[in-house]
Amino acid sequence: MLELNDLRHVYGDGTVALDGVSLSIPVGMFGLLGPNGAGKSSLMRTIATLQTPTSGSIRFDGIDLLADPARLRQVLGYLPQDFGVYPRVTAYDLLDHMAVLKGITVKADRRQTVETLLDRVNLWDVRKRAVAGFSGGMRQRFGIAQALIGSPRLIIVDEPTAGLDPEERNRFHGLLAEIGENVVVILSTHIVEDVADLCPRMAVLAAGRILLDGAPQELIGAM
Ligand code: ADP
Ligand code: ADP
Repeated sequence: MLELNDLRHVYGDGTVALDGVSLSIPVGMFGLLGPNGAGKSSLMRTIATLQTPTSGSIRFDGIDLLADPARLRQVLGYLPQDFGVYPRVTAYDLLDHMAVLKGITVKADRRQTVETLLDRVNLWDVRKRAVAGFSGGMRQRFGIAQALIGSPRLIIVDEPTAGLDPEERNRFHGLLAEIGENVVVILSTHIVEDVADLCPRMAVLAAGRILLDGAPQELIGAM
């Protein structure tokens, strides 16, 4: 269970991006829906502790993540919105390198991790190709593979289906649904269908505040 308590974030220019966000997010897929500028990316970066909130707290299974960044790195998998700078190295080598950065230093463990993940996201056949040449859908599936290194229990996915064709979008949804069976997955998006299809629970963010919080079938009619 992820617990956000009264998070506020004010940028240096005075923009209030988060204006008192409180949410309890259980295991499973959770949709964070909101228009552009609502504060979704700010909230995702705050939970990933890439930025420190002006005030408020973040707890995961009782652990204060802001006070314990080392623990956070063990717990968290993050697919950022702008995960898009792809070096001309192969999918296998890039994932292997990211596994080193995640602290999997034993080569045999890393091999097992990388092989399992490439297979899981259906990129095994293209493991020797440069990620720079991948299609949008392949890149996003690669992004999920890197987010899953180290078996995180909290996964944050920011606007993942932008620019994907319907087939890739369905494939990506299937992958997220599988992952969401055991861990907390937060899906941030402005696409209502993504949330309606996938998430038993959701919240609507606008102007840095949570407007609604509940089941999509109850909320989407009310929006
Ligand atoms: P969303 O992801 O929902 O589009 P963002 O979190 O990107 O929303 O932005 C929320 C608000 O904060 C917007 O008004 C945006 O312009 C502003 N904002 C985002 N990042 C910064 C920043 N680094 N500095 C100042 N304002 C920012
Ligand atoms: P989103 O698509 O989530 O709304 P944006 O296009 O608002 O994202 O932001 C893209 C990048 O620009 C982010 O890194 C964000 O922090 C930064 N940014 C957004 N708005 C501002 C702003 N008003 N001032 C400074 N940086 C900003």
